[in-house]
Amino acid sequence: MKLLIVEDEIKTGDYLRQGLTEAGFVADIARNGLDGYHLASTQTYDLILLDVMLPDIDGWKIVRSLREAGNATPVLFLTAKGSVEDRVKGLELGADDYLLKPFSFSELLARVRSLLRRAGGTMTSDRLEVEDLVLDLARRRATRAGSRLNLTNKEFVLLELLVRRRGEVLPRSLIASLVWDMNFDSDTNVIDVAIRRLRAKVDDPFSSRLIRTVRGMGYVLDTGDEN
Ligand code: CA
Repeated sequence: MKLLIVEDEIKTGDYLRQGLTEAGFVADIARNGLDGYHLASTQTYDLILLDVMLPDIDGWKIVRSLREAGNATPVLFLTAKGSVEDRVKGLELGADDYLLKPFSFSELLARVRSLLRRAGGTMTSDRLEVEDLVLDLARRRATRAGSRLNLTNKEFVLLELLVRRRGEVLPRSLIASLVWDMNFDSDTNVIDVAIRRLRAKVDDPFSSRLIRTVRGMGYVLDTGDEN
């Protein structure tokens, strides 16, 4: 899940990005309205966290421009402005939710996850299941055959990606960009190491394997007997 943070307060922006990264998201940050609008309209995000009071273009104008251009990316407004008129204005312009500053990070995280679930598409359910593997998306927990898998945040994100796109061979470069937000460097074996660690938890203790290597291509999560 890739998020965009548009926030001109340096400390708040850094705090948000760090917290969201630790929670397993990939987050870009824009420090002003122009950069925010540019990123939001040229990149694909699952959710935008948008400060209202920004130098140059304010958050309201950004969300109105995005909606007029047909961009339906969910927007969570972050704002110190709390009057009823402001809330109504934001929602009328196409924001999906509103969070007043100051907020607790746990509340922000709950809103983010709720918006991502509401966004529908692939995220209509709190659970993903493949055979005896179950991902609880709200709690960020995975179990297999009823046993809790002790995954790091990144491992959960990686597994979630493989499960969502089960049956599809995912190239290392795609995994790198979606899970690590990095461009693929052929010298790095970050992806292979991460997959090996994930397999040690998800596959090795169980009788059937779900994560497969497709030589020269990448990785796929699949069921069945072929290897
Ligand atoms: Ca601001």
